[in-house]
Amino acid sequence: MSNSLFSLKNKTALVTGSSRGLGHAIAIGLAQAGASIVLNGVDQERLQAASEKMRDEGLSVSEACFDVTDEASVIAAFEAFDREGVALDILVNNAGIQLRKPMVELTTEEWQRVIDTNLTSAFVVGREAAKRMIARGSGKIINMGSLTSELARATVAPYTVSKGGIKMLTRSMTAEWAEHGIQVNAVGPGYMLTDMNEALMANAQFDDWVRGRTPARRWGKPEELVGTAVFLASTASDYVNGQIIYVDGGMISVL
Ligand code: NDP
Repeated sequence: MSNSLFSLKNKTALVTGSSRGLGHAIAIGLAQAGASIVLNGVDQERLQAASEKMRDEGLSVSEACFDVTDEASVIAAFEAFDREGVALDILVNNAGIQLRKPMVELTTEEWQRVIDTNLTSAFVVGREAAKRMIARGSGKIINMGSLTSELARATVAPYTVSKGGIKMLTRSMTAEWAEHGIQVNAVGPGYMLTDMNEALMANAQFDDWVRGRTPARRWGKPEELVGTAVFLASTASDYVNGQIIYVDGGMISVL
């Protein structure tokens, strides 16, 4: 097997929500495999700092600061890519938020915010990317699923619904876009060490639960998603369509 199978040289990738956390780790991994990266986030300062750090490491990177839930901003960002000659070969729909609350206390606005950020954004950004990819006859889209694409837990209903939706969005995109040379797949991380889980990591009882339920007996590190992301972004996955690959220390196997 040649390493060129996994090379992303001359490819351009947009990773949404890549100023920190899993998106940032994936962006670095894709860049190290040779891709030029467009980093995204809403906090301009954090985005700039993340971008400068990657540039200092000799990686090819630019920034597009926009809110993935703001359709007009998404469309404007893609129009700017068109004007600047930025053609996306790879899109990682990663931006997401969590919100922990029992459903009887949850407002409709809170429900909608999670669905908009985690699911509707993947449709909107995916649609804008796919229009261009279809015209060129190729592309790779990676959606961010989760263990909760399969597993419901108390206090995270909109998150779980959004991630279950990501699984079917991935299949729906496949049903429509595979014939145009676009592979759409998803990654389903288990419990990973990022800002999103800060409160949970500090909770000894929850920490015990994660270690007890995960066959690998530990939390995942963001960089442990990179191999799967590079595989799904590269020619190595050219006949892999509509899958969700769990990177979860085995948790899904023992549910
Ligand atoms: P973090 O909270 O660490 O980072 C979230 C990133 O998303 C930040 O870069 C943030 O930008 C960006 N973001 C949030 N909202 C928006 C928005 N409206 N528009 C653009 N960017 C936005 O999260 P994680 O890295 O932990 O999670 C990343 C993805 O992985 C999410 O989809 C999450 O659901 C999923 N996931 C995470 C797991 C985990 O255990 N951590 C497990 C399974 C799935 P900014 O810095 O500007 O706020």
